[in-house]
Amino acid sequence: MQTYFQKGLGLKAEVAPLLDQDYGSNVIARLRELGYAAEAGGLTIRLAREFGFCYGVDRAIEYAYEAKRRFPERRLFLSGEIIHNPSVNQNLRDMGFTILEDGRDPQKRYAPVAAEDVVVLPAFGVTVEEMKHLRAIGAVLVDTTCGSVLNVWKNVSKYARDGFTVVIHGKHYHEETRATASQALLHKGGAYLCVRDESETEVVCDFVRGRVGREAFLASFAPAVSEGFDPAVHLERIGLANQTTMLMSESLKVQELLRRVYLERYGEAGLAERFRSFDTICSATQDRQDAVLRMFEETPPDVMLVIGGYNSSNTQALVRICSAKCPTYYVESPECIDSGTGALRHRALGSAVSETVEDWLPKGAPNVTLGVTAGASTPDSVVAKSIERILASRGARASDLRAVGSPADPGSGVS
Ligand code: SF4
Repeated sequence: MQTYFQKGLGLKAEVAPLLDQDYGSNVIARLRELGYAAEAGGLTIRLAREFGFCYGVDRAIEYAYEAKRRFPERRLFLSGEIIHNPSVNQNLRDMGFTILEDGRDPQKRYAPVAAEDVVVLPAFGVTVEEMKHLRAIGAVLVDTTCGSVLNVWKNVSKYARDGFTVVIHGKHYHEETRATASQALLHKGGAYLCVRDESETEVVCDFVRGRVGREAFLASFAPAVSEGFDPAVHLERIGLANQTTMLMSESLKVQELLRRVYLERYGEAGLAERFRSFDTICSATQDRQDAVLRMFEETPPDVMLVIGGYNSSNTQALVRICSAKCPTYYVESPECIDSGTGALRHRALGSAVSETVEDWLPKGAPNVTLGVTAGASTPDSVVAKSIERILASRGARASDLRAVGSPADPGSGVS
C-alpha cells in the first residue's frame, strides 16, 4: 500500500466544493469584481490586489481534506499547525485532525502516532530528522511541503555539498527555518547560521572584520547555529538563503551587508570563492508585499487593517510595511472586531498581548479609506467576515458595497 503522498491523493474534484464552502467568500468575489475597492457605511474599503491564501497553503489544505476523505476510518494527525492561521487549524480539528505539539525531539513529538495512522506534513516542511522518524513508524505520510520551500532546500543542500556554511535570513525557531537548516546537515561538515535581521547581520559582519570575538559571537547566536559552530571556520565560505516569508527588502539588505563585508575582506576574487546567494523569498510572499506597496503608491489608505495569525511570519512582514506608511492594526480573526461598537482588539508587532482601541476608524469623518490585506494563510472567508463586522459597526452590510463614486442605494440602510 502507498504510504507516502506528495502530489495529492487524487480527490481534488471531490473536495473542491467543501473547500469553497469553508474558505471561499461571495463578498470577496464581489470586491474583486468592483476592482478591489468599494464604498459602504461611510467607508471606502480598498483590498490589496494580492492577499490571503497563497498557492502553497491552498494545496496544503486541499491535501488535508483529501486525506480525510481517503482515510475516513483512520486517526489523522497534523505535524503541528498546517499553516499559521487559527481558524483554519480549528476547522481541521473539528474535522477530526489532532494537531501535534511543536517540539524538536521527534520521539516526543510523534509519540502518539502509530503505523496505521495518517500524518499530514505542513506547507513549511519538517526537519530531516522528523521525516526519518516518521518513515520508521510506517504511518501514511501526506507531505504538503510547498514547492517554493523545496526549492530553498535544493539550494541549501548544494551550498552544504560544496562546503559553504548556510546562512539563513529567518527566525531560528520557525518550523520552516528549522527544516531548511536541517538540510544543511545532510552533508558531511555541513553547518548553518540563522540571522534574523540587519542588526544580527552586523554582528556577523563585525566578526568577519575582526571586531567581534568568537565568544561574543557565539553568545549572540547560541540557539541559531548548528552544533559545534566555530565562526572562525564556518564563516570562511557562506551561502545565503532565506525563510520564504521574510520581508523582501530586509532580505536584500542582509544579502548586501554580507556581500560587502566579504568583498571588503577578501576582494573580488575572494568574494566569488567565498560568497554565494540565491533569492529564496517565494513569489506569493513577494506579490503580497508588492501589492500593499502599490496600494500606498496609487491610493494611500488612511488606516490599514492586516489580518493573519499572530505567529505568521509573512503577515508580520505585511504589518511592517504598512506601519511605516499609516496607522496599521494587526488582527488575527474577525472576532477581534466588535460588530456593535466597532472596537478593535489588535496586537502590536512583537507584542504577546492584545489591546483594544475604540476609535481606530474615525466615525464622524467622511470618506475614510480603509486598506485591507491578509497574510498567505488567511482564507477569503476570514477577510470577508472581518469586513462585514466593520460594516455592521457602521450600520451597513456587505450587500451595500458599491463601486467607489457610485450613488448609495436609498433602500440599503447605509449610514
Ligand atoms: S508562503 Fe510561499 S513558501 Fe510558504 S506556502 Fe505559501 S507559496 Fe509556499
